[in-house]
Amino acid sequence: MSKLNRQWHEANPMPKNPTPEQRMAWHTGHTANCPCRAMPAGVIRLFTERGLPVPEQLALKHSDG
Ligand SMILES: [Zn+2]
Repeated sequence: MSKLNRQWHEANPMPKNPTPEQRMAWHTGHTANCPCRAMPAGVIRLFTERGLPVPEQLALKHSDG
């Protein structure tokens, strides 16, 4: 019932004081494996300001779409 992918979260803790690159890497893995929350705007900006494509977000997919 939970939308949290607990197994993925336990295997992939967010580093303490992450660098922007670490945040991007974490959220890239997170958004592909866990729909518990959407990618924060500040993280999306890390991709766009580098000219990188924003990963497709599992959290924003609709099963009835
Ligand atoms: Zn999650």
